[in-house]
Amino acid sequence: RTVYVNGEYLPEDQATVSIFDRSFLMADGVYEVTSVLGGKLIDFPGHMARLERSLVELDMNKPEAFDDLLEIHRKLVELNGIDEGLIYLQVSRGSAGDRDFAFPDTEVVKPTLVLFTQSKPGLADNPAARKGIKIISIEDIRWGRRDVKTTQLLYPSMGKMMAKKAGADDAWMVEDGFVTEGTSNNAYIVKGNKIITRQLSNDILHGITRAAVLRFAREAQMDVEERSFTIDEAKEADEAFVTSASTFVMPVVEIDGETIGEGTPGPKALRLREIYLDESRKAAV
Ligand code: PMP
Repeated sequence: RTVYVNGEYLPEDQATVSIFDRSFLMADGVYEVTSVLGGKLIDFPGHMARLERSLVELDMNKPEAFDDLLEIHRKLVELNGIDEGLIYLQVSRGSAGDRDFAFPDTEVVKPTLVLFTQSKPGLADNPAARKGIKIISIEDIRWGRRDVKTTQLLYPSMGKMMAKKAGADDAWMVEDGFVTEGTSNNAYIVKGNKIITRQLSNDILHGITRAAVLRFAREAQMDVEERSFTIDEAKEADEAFVTSASTFVMPVVEIDGETIGEGTPGPKALRLREIYLDESRKAAV
């Protein structure tokens, strides 16, 4: 696999980053994951807009190649022959050549930019979407700026492990009695014609897929309610699902061992998945 590091395209075993890089020492980095369908980038402008916002929020320099990111993504897709898959992009604050809690001077430090591809044939025609996934609920103990897409992913990783141990596929996190989001996705319930998902704030990541799916839901005459909901309300819902760049719209059929609806993917979730895949393929770059 060919990867990109700070201006160079290299075989993955030749790509290196300093041990003093702040994303390694402090999780002082931000990232994006963009999916590739038919060799094209899905929701690319949205991911780049969010990346820019993450950098601003953390007072991090833009990488020099910021304006070339579309070209870099496309080149990696081509070099690695990706038809369906993902592109991971990370920007870290960089390295000051030593360890220090204080940020290095923004005038001198250069951000580290890394991108690599992951080939995932069958990403769109995912068998999990036909079956639906099982989730458990766990407490949300993450920091308070979840709207910034940082590389601090230890708790979400632990959440996935807790789910695995419980025989489930993923976890929804709960704070003050209300669902915030999934470990790596936004969470939704469906009641009648209503699509319910938590309102945007610092408490959740502003999902790029979420924005598109809510727009498609409104266009399909579904009612969208952006508000908090509890796990108890979710258990009583007609349907549940999650969205993310890597899973698109993924139906949820079980929450904490209780069956949702008929225990099979719900019609609204499946419809939204179909619309999302169709429309975002058309808009892919
Ligand atoms: N919430 C969290 C915590 C996530 O990690 C992700 C995926 N990165 C999402 C939501 C979904 O965001 P997107 O649709 O932009 O992939």
